[in-house]
Amino acid sequence: MCYHFLLEESEHGMTARILDGTKIRDEVFAELKGEIARLAIEGIRPGLAAVLVGENPASQLYVKSKIAATGQLGLASWMHTPPASSTTEQMLDLVRDLNNDNAVDGILVQLPLPSQVDTKRVLEAVDPAKDVDGFHPVSLGRLVSGRPGLVACTPAGCMEILRRNNIQIEGANAVVLGRSDIVGKPMALLLMHANATVTICHSKTRDLASVVSRADIVVAAMGKAGYVQADWIRPGAAVIDVGTNKVTDAKEAESLLRNFPARLQKFREKGSVLIGDVHPDAVNTAGALTPVPGGVGPMTIAMLMSNTVKAAKLRREKLKSETAQSIAGAR
Ligand code: NAP
Repeated sequence: MCYHFLLEESEHGMTARILDGTKIRDEVFAELKGEIARLAIEGIRPGLAAVLVGENPASQLYVKSKIAATGQLGLASWMHTPPASSTTEQMLDLVRDLNNDNAVDGILVQLPLPSQVDTKRVLEAVDPAKDVDGFHPVSLGRLVSGRPGLVACTPAGCMEILRRNNIQIEGANAVVLGRSDIVGKPMALLLMHANATVTICHSKTRDLASVVSRADIVVAAMGKAGYVQADWIRPGAAVIDVGTNKVTDAKEAESLLRNFPARLQKFREKGSVLIGDVHPDAVNTAGALTPVPGGVGPMTIAMLMSNTVKAAKLRREKLKSETAQSIAGAR
Protein backbone atom coordinates (compact mmCIF):
# COMPACT_ATOMS: atom_id res chain seq x y z
CA MET A 1 0.00 0.00 0.00
CA CYS A 2 1.20 3.50 -0.77
CA TYR A 3 1.53 4.72 2.78
CA HIS A 4 4.25 2.16 3.25
CA PHE A 5 6.22 4.16 0.74
CA LEU A 6 5.70 7.18 2.94
CA LEU A 7 7.04 5.29 5.91
CA GLU A 8 10.04 3.87 4.10
CA GLU A 9 11.09 6.70 1.89
CA SER A 10 10.73 10.10 3.36
CA GLU A 11 14.23 11.51 3.23
CA HIS A 12 13.54 14.08 5.93
CA GLY A 13 12.41 11.63 8.60
CA MET A 14 8.80 10.60 9.06
CA THR A 15 6.89 12.57 11.62
CA ALA A 16 3.20 11.97 10.97
CA ARG A 17 1.27 9.11 12.52
CA ILE A 18 -0.43 7.33 9.64
CA LEU A 19 -4.20 7.16 10.07
CA ASP A 20 -4.88 3.83 8.44
CA GLY A 21 -8.40 3.81 6.95
CA THR A 22 -8.15 0.19 5.81
CA LYS A 23 -7.55 -0.97 9.39
CA ILE A 24 -10.52 1.04 10.71
CA ARG A 25 -12.71 -0.24 7.88
CA ASP A 26 -11.86 -3.78 8.99
CA GLU A 27 -12.80 -2.90 12.58
CA VAL A 28 -16.13 -1.44 11.41
CA PHE A 29 -16.79 -4.51 9.25
CA ALA A 30 -16.12 -6.82 12.23
CA GLU A 31 -18.63 -4.83 14.34
CA LEU A 32 -21.19 -4.85 11.52
CA LYS A 33 -20.88 -8.62 11.10
CA GLY A 34 -22.04 -9.03 14.71
CA GLU A 35 -25.05 -6.77 14.12
CA ILE A 36 -25.89 -8.49 10.83
CA ALA A 37 -25.81 -11.89 12.59
CA ARG A 38 -28.19 -10.56 15.29
CA LEU A 39 -30.57 -9.25 12.60
CA ALA A 40 -30.42 -12.61 10.79
CA ILE A 41 -31.82 -14.30 13.93
CA GLU A 42 -34.87 -12.02 13.54
CA GLY A 43 -35.10 -13.00 9.86
CA ILE A 44 -33.78 -9.63 8.63
CA ARG A 45 -31.17 -9.38 5.89
CA PRO A 46 -30.37 -5.71 5.11
CA GLY A 47 -30.16 -5.02 1.39
CA LEU A 48 -28.54 -2.37 -0.78
CA ALA A 49 -29.68 -1.49 -4.31
CA ALA A 50 -27.06 0.25 -6.44
CA VAL A 51 -27.97 2.21 -9.54
CA LEU A 52 -25.19 2.67 -12.06
CA VAL A 53 -26.14 4.58 -15.20
CA GLY A 54 -23.97 4.25 -18.31
CA GLU A 55 -20.40 3.06 -18.52
CA ASN A 56 -18.21 5.54 -16.66
CA PRO A 57 -15.14 3.38 -15.72
CA ALA A 58 -14.50 5.18 -12.40
CA SER A 59 -18.17 4.81 -11.38
CA GLN A 60 -18.12 1.13 -12.40
CA LEU A 61 -15.10 0.59 -10.16
CA TYR A 62 -16.70 2.40 -7.19
CA VAL A 63 -19.97 0.46 -7.48
CA LYS A 64 -18.11 -2.81 -7.92
CA SER A 65 -16.22 -2.28 -4.66
CA LYS A 66 -19.44 -1.30 -2.85
CA ILE A 67 -21.23 -4.44 -4.06
CA ALA A 68 -18.17 -6.54 -3.14
CA ALA A 69 -18.38 -5.14 0.41
CA THR A 70 -22.05 -6.20 0.72
CA GLY A 71 -20.97 -9.72 -0.30
CA GLN A 72 -18.17 -9.73 2.28
CA LEU A 73 -20.66 -8.82 5.02
CA GLY A 74 -23.51 -11.08 3.89
CA LEU A 75 -25.85 -8.21 2.98
CA ALA A 76 -28.27 -8.56 0.08
CA SER A 77 -27.50 -6.40 -2.94
CA TRP A 78 -28.91 -5.58 -6.34
CA MET A 79 -27.25 -3.79 -9.20
CA HIS A 80 -29.35 -1.79 -11.68
CA THR A 81 -27.58 -0.63 -14.81
CA PRO A 82 -29.83 1.60 -16.92
CA PRO A 83 -28.28 2.76 -20.22
CA ALA A 84 -26.46 6.11 -20.54
CA SER A 85 -29.40 7.35 -22.67
CA SER A 86 -31.85 7.05 -19.70
CA THR A 87 -34.17 10.00 -19.11
CA THR A 88 -35.04 11.68 -15.82
CA GLU A 89 -38.51 10.05 -15.94
CA GLN A 90 -37.01 6.57 -16.40
CA MET A 91 -34.67 7.16 -13.47
CA LEU A 92 -37.56 8.41 -11.34
CA ASP A 93 -39.56 5.25 -12.20
CA LEU A 94 -36.65 3.06 -11.12
CA VAL A 95 -36.19 4.96 -7.85
CA ARG A 96 -39.97 4.67 -7.15
CA ASP A 97 -39.79 0.88 -7.67
CA LEU A 98 -36.86 0.63 -5.26
CA ASN A 99 -38.66 2.83 -2.71
CA ASN A 100 -41.61 0.41 -2.85
CA ASP A 101 -39.50 -2.76 -2.65
CA ASN A 102 -39.57 -3.91 0.97
CA ALA A 103 -36.40 -6.01 0.59
CA VAL A 104 -34.41 -2.87 -0.26
CA ASP A 105 -33.14 -0.93 2.77
CA GLY A 106 -30.66 1.34 1.03
CA ILE A 107 -30.65 3.01 -2.39
CA LEU A 108 -27.39 4.18 -3.84
CA VAL A 109 -27.50 6.27 -7.03
CA GLN A 110 -23.91 6.47 -8.25
CA LEU A 111 -22.95 9.97 -9.37
CA PRO A 112 -22.35 11.56 -11.78
CA LEU A 113 -25.55 10.90 -13.73
CA PRO A 114 -25.59 11.65 -17.49
CA SER A 115 -26.08 15.35 -18.29
CA GLN A 116 -29.66 14.90 -19.60
CA VAL A 117 -30.79 13.54 -16.20
CA ASP A 118 -31.91 15.97 -13.50
CA THR A 119 -29.66 14.72 -10.69
CA LYS A 120 -31.35 16.76 -7.94
CA ARG A 121 -34.82 15.44 -8.84
CA VAL A 122 -33.55 11.85 -8.85
CA LEU A 123 -31.76 12.19 -5.49
CA GLU A 124 -34.80 13.91 -3.95
CA ALA A 125 -37.03 11.06 -5.16
CA VAL A 126 -35.16 8.55 -2.95
CA ASP A 127 -37.16 7.66 0.16
CA PRO A 128 -35.25 9.44 2.98
CA ALA A 129 -35.57 6.21 5.03
CA LYS A 130 -33.47 4.47 2.35
CA ASP A 131 -31.07 7.38 1.71
CA VAL A 132 -27.87 5.54 2.66
CA ASP A 133 -25.74 8.12 0.83
CA GLY A 134 -27.16 10.86 3.07
CA PHE A 135 -27.63 13.19 0.07
CA HIS A 136 -31.40 13.80 0.46
CA PRO A 137 -32.39 17.27 1.77
CA VAL A 138 -34.23 15.54 4.63
CA SER A 139 -30.99 13.79 5.68
CA LEU A 140 -29.06 17.05 5.38
CA GLY A 141 -31.76 18.86 7.38
CA ARG A 142 -31.51 16.28 10.15
CA LEU A 143 -27.75 16.74 10.19
CA VAL A 144 -28.05 20.55 10.40
CA SER A 145 -30.40 20.28 13.37
CA GLY A 146 -28.28 17.60 15.06
CA ARG A 147 -31.01 14.93 14.89
CA PRO A 148 -30.19 11.26 14.31
CA GLY A 149 -30.34 10.09 10.71
CA LEU A 150 -28.34 8.82 7.76
CA VAL A 151 -25.15 10.88 7.36
CA ALA A 152 -23.15 11.21 4.13
CA CYS A 153 -20.60 8.39 4.06
CA THR A 154 -17.33 10.21 3.33
CA PRO A 155 -17.61 12.82 6.12
CA ALA A 156 -18.97 10.18 8.50
CA GLY A 157 -15.90 8.07 7.65
CA CYS A 158 -13.57 11.03 8.35
CA MET A 159 -15.17 11.42 11.80
CA GLU A 160 -14.62 7.71 12.53
CA ILE A 161 -10.95 8.09 11.59
CA LEU A 162 -10.56 11.01 14.00
CA ARG A 163 -12.49 9.34 16.83
CA ARG A 164 -10.92 5.90 16.59
CA ASN A 165 -7.46 7.50 16.61
CA ASN A 166 -8.33 9.51 19.73
CA ILE A 167 -7.75 12.83 18.01
CA GLN A 168 -9.17 15.59 20.19
CA ILE A 169 -12.07 17.26 18.36
CA GLU A 170 -13.73 19.18 21.17
CA GLY A 171 -12.30 22.70 21.32
CA ALA A 172 -10.03 22.08 18.32
CA ASN A 173 -9.67 24.59 15.50
CA ALA A 174 -10.85 22.64 12.46
CA VAL A 175 -10.45 23.88 8.89
CA VAL A 176 -12.49 22.24 6.12
CA LEU A 177 -11.24 22.92 2.59
CA GLY A 178 -14.23 22.59 0.26
CA ARG A 179 -17.95 23.24 0.66
CA SER A 180 -19.62 20.61 -1.52
CA ASP A 181 -22.99 19.19 -0.41
CA ILE A 182 -21.54 15.69 -0.24
CA VAL A 183 -18.25 16.29 1.59
CA GLY A 184 -17.33 19.81 2.77
CA LYS A 185 -20.67 21.00 4.21
CA PRO A 186 -21.63 17.81 6.08
CA MET A 187 -18.03 17.49 7.31
CA ALA A 188 -18.10 20.99 8.77
CA LEU A 189 -21.45 20.26 10.47
CA LEU A 190 -20.20 17.01 11.99
CA LEU A 191 -17.10 18.74 13.36
CA MET A 192 -19.22 21.58 14.74
CA HIS A 193 -21.60 19.12 16.45
CA ALA A 194 -18.51 17.47 17.97
CA ASN A 195 -17.63 20.89 19.46
CA ALA A 196 -14.78 21.90 17.16
CA THR A 197 -14.49 25.55 16.09
CA VAL A 198 -14.92 25.21 12.35
CA THR A 199 -13.74 27.35 9.44
CA ILE A 200 -15.01 26.43 5.97
CA CYS A 201 -12.80 27.43 3.03
CA HIS A 202 -13.58 27.51 -0.69
CA SER A 203 -12.17 28.82 -3.94
CA LYS A 204 -12.76 32.46 -2.92
CA THR A 205 -11.07 32.17 0.48
CA ARG A 206 -8.23 34.67 0.88
CA ASP A 207 -4.81 33.57 2.17
CA LEU A 208 -5.62 29.89 2.51
CA ALA A 209 -2.10 29.18 3.83
CA SER A 210 -2.59 31.33 6.91
CA VAL A 211 -6.07 29.88 7.63
CA VAL A 212 -4.71 26.33 7.35
CA SER A 213 -1.69 27.16 9.52
CA ARG A 214 -3.97 27.87 12.51
CA ALA A 215 -5.78 24.52 12.31
CA ASP A 216 -5.45 21.62 14.73
CA ILE A 217 -7.48 19.52 12.28
CA VAL A 218 -7.40 20.00 8.50
CA VAL A 219 -9.88 18.23 6.24
CA ALA A 220 -8.98 18.72 2.58
CA ALA A 221 -11.76 18.02 0.05
CA MET A 222 -11.00 20.21 -2.95
CA GLY A 223 -10.12 17.87 -5.79
CA LYS A 224 -6.70 19.49 -6.41
CA ALA A 225 -3.66 17.21 -6.34
CA GLY A 226 -1.11 18.21 -3.70
CA TYR A 227 -2.55 21.75 -3.39
CA VAL A 228 -2.16 22.06 0.39
CA GLN A 229 1.54 22.66 0.94
CA ALA A 230 3.47 20.92 3.70
CA ASP A 231 4.60 24.21 5.25
CA TRP A 232 0.98 25.41 5.60
CA ILE A 233 0.33 22.65 8.13
CA ARG A 234 0.82 23.54 11.79
CA PRO A 235 3.40 21.07 13.16
CA GLY A 236 1.51 18.28 14.90
CA ALA A 237 -1.89 18.96 13.24
CA ALA A 238 -4.15 16.08 12.19
CA VAL A 239 -4.74 16.01 8.44
CA ILE A 240 -7.61 14.15 6.78
CA ASP A 241 -7.02 14.07 3.05
CA VAL A 242 -10.26 13.34 1.19
CA GLY A 243 -8.87 14.17 -2.25
CA THR A 244 -8.38 11.34 -4.71
CA ASN A 245 -6.76 12.78 -7.81
CA LYS A 246 -5.38 10.63 -10.58
CA VAL A 247 -2.16 12.28 -11.78
CA THR A 248 -0.95 11.22 -15.22
CA ASP A 249 1.33 14.14 -16.09
CA ALA A 250 5.00 13.15 -15.61
CA LYS A 251 6.18 16.65 -14.63
CA GLU A 252 3.44 16.99 -12.03
CA ALA A 253 4.15 13.53 -10.61
CA GLU A 254 7.90 14.25 -10.46
CA SER A 255 7.32 17.49 -8.60
CA LEU A 256 4.80 16.00 -6.13
CA LEU A 257 6.81 12.84 -5.45
CA ARG A 258 10.32 14.33 -5.47
CA ASN A 259 10.92 12.94 -1.97
CA PHE A 260 9.32 9.55 -2.66
CA PRO A 261 11.47 7.75 -5.24
CA ALA A 262 9.72 4.37 -4.95
CA ARG A 263 6.28 5.92 -5.57
CA LEU A 264 7.73 7.87 -8.47
CA GLN A 265 9.15 4.67 -9.89
CA LYS A 266 5.69 3.04 -9.62
CA PHE A 267 4.23 6.04 -11.45
CA ARG A 268 6.76 5.57 -14.26
CA GLU A 269 5.80 1.91 -14.58
CA LYS A 270 2.05 2.50 -14.40
CA GLY A 271 1.63 5.93 -15.99
CA SER A 272 -0.58 7.24 -13.18
CA VAL A 273 -0.63 7.77 -9.45
CA LEU A 274 -3.35 8.68 -6.93
CA ILE A 275 -2.51 11.87 -5.02
CA GLY A 276 -4.57 13.54 -2.32
CA ASP A 277 -5.30 17.26 -2.01
CA VAL A 278 -2.44 17.55 0.47
CA HIS A 279 1.15 17.57 -0.75
CA PRO A 280 2.84 14.23 0.07
CA ASP A 281 5.62 16.16 1.89
CA ALA A 282 3.08 17.00 4.62
CA VAL A 283 4.05 13.67 6.18
CA ASN A 284 7.01 15.66 7.58
CA THR A 285 4.95 18.41 9.21
CA ALA A 286 1.61 16.89 10.22
CA GLY A 287 1.22 15.04 13.49
CA ALA A 288 -1.18 12.54 11.95
CA LEU A 289 -2.20 12.03 8.33
CA THR A 290 -4.49 9.83 6.25
CA PRO A 291 -2.70 8.18 3.33
CA VAL A 292 -4.01 8.34 -0.25
CA PRO A 293 -5.00 5.71 -1.12
CA GLY A 294 -5.84 3.74 2.03
CA GLY A 295 -7.24 6.55 4.19
CA VAL A 296 -10.68 8.04 3.61
CA GLY A 297 -11.61 5.83 0.62
CA PRO A 298 -12.06 2.53 2.53
CA MET A 299 -13.99 4.39 5.24
CA THR A 300 -16.52 5.73 2.72
CA ILE A 301 -17.44 2.14 1.86
CA ALA A 302 -17.48 1.13 5.54
CA MET A 303 -19.95 3.92 6.31
CA LEU A 304 -22.16 2.94 3.37
CA MET A 305 -22.41 -0.56 4.81
CA SER A 306 -23.03 0.86 8.27
CA ASN A 307 -25.80 3.14 6.90
CA THR A 308 -27.44 0.18 5.14
CA VAL A 309 -27.63 -1.78 8.40
CA LYS A 310 -28.81 1.34 10.25
CA ALA A 311 -31.51 2.01 7.64
CA ALA A 312 -32.73 -1.60 7.91
CA LYS A 313 -33.07 -1.25 11.69
CA LEU A 314 -34.65 2.22 11.66
CA ARG A 315 -37.19 1.26 8.99
CA ARG A 316 -38.36 -1.78 10.94
CA GLU A 317 -38.49 0.13 14.23
CA LYS A 318 -40.63 2.79 12.52
CA LEU A 319 -42.89 0.11 11.01
CA LYS A 320 -43.27 -1.57 14.42
CA SER A 321 -44.21 1.67 16.17
CA GLU A 322 -46.67 2.61 13.37
CA THR A 323 -48.32 -0.82 13.65
CA ALA A 324 -48.51 -0.49 17.45
CA GLN A 325 -50.05 2.97 17.10
CA SER A 326 -52.67 1.82 14.58
CA ILE A 327 -53.60 -1.16 16.83
CA ALA A 328 -53.91 1.23 19.80
CA GLY A 329 -56.00 3.60 17.66
CA ALA A 330 -58.35 0.79 16.59
CA ARG A 331 -59.10 -0.16 20.22
P1 NAP B 1 -16.34 19.39 -5.48
O1 NAP B 1 -17.82 19.25 -5.46
O2 NAP B 1 -15.64 19.68 -6.76
O3 NAP B 1 -15.96 20.56 -4.44
C1 NAP B 1 -14.67 21.05 -4.35
C2 NAP B 1 -14.64 22.16 -3.32
O4 NAP B 1 -13.31 22.61 -3.20
C3 NAP B 1 -15.50 23.38 -3.70
O5 NAP B 1 -16.23 23.83 -2.59
C4 NAP B 1 -14.48 24.40 -4.14
O6 NAP B 1 -14.83 25.75 -3.85
C5 NAP B 1 -13.28 24.03 -3.28
N1 NAP B 1 -12.05 24.48 -3.91
C6 NAP B 1 -11.65 24.24 -5.19
N2 NAP B 1 -10.48 24.88 -5.41
C7 NAP B 1 -10.14 25.50 -4.26
C8 NAP B 1 -9.06 26.33 -3.87
N3 NAP B 1 -8.06 26.62 -4.71
N4 NAP B 1 -9.04 26.80 -2.60
C9 NAP B 1 -10.02 26.51 -1.73
N5 NAP B 1 -11.09 25.73 -2.05
C10 NAP B 1 -11.15 25.24 -3.30
O7 NAP B 1 -15.62 18.13 -4.88
P2 NAP B 1 -16.13 17.02 -3.80
O8 NAP B 1 -17.15 16.15 -4.43
O9 NAP B 1 -16.42 17.67 -2.50
O10 NAP B 1 -14.79 16.16 -3.67
C11 NAP B 1 -13.57 16.73 -3.26
C12 NAP B 1 -12.45 15.72 -3.41
O11 NAP B 1 -12.72 14.60 -2.61
C13 NAP B 1 -12.27 15.16 -4.82
O12 NAP B 1 -10.89 14.91 -5.05
C14 NAP B 1 -13.02 13.83 -4.79
O13 NAP B 1 -12.51 12.90 -5.73
C15 NAP B 1 -12.70 13.41 -3.38
N6 NAP B 1 -13.68 12.47 -2.82
C16 NAP B 1 -13.17 11.34 -2.25
C17 NAP B 1 -14.03 10.43 -1.66
C18 NAP B 1 -13.45 9.21 -1.03
O14 NAP B 1 -14.20 8.30 -0.70
N7 NAP B 1 -12.14 9.16 -0.82
C19 NAP B 1 -15.41 10.67 -1.64
C20 NAP B 1 -15.89 11.86 -2.19
C21 NAP B 1 -15.01 12.75 -2.77
P3 NAP B 1 -16.10 26.49 -4.55
O15 NAP B 1 -17.30 25.99 -3.82
O16 NAP B 1 -15.83 27.92 -4.31
O17 NAP B 1 -16.07 26.09 -5.99
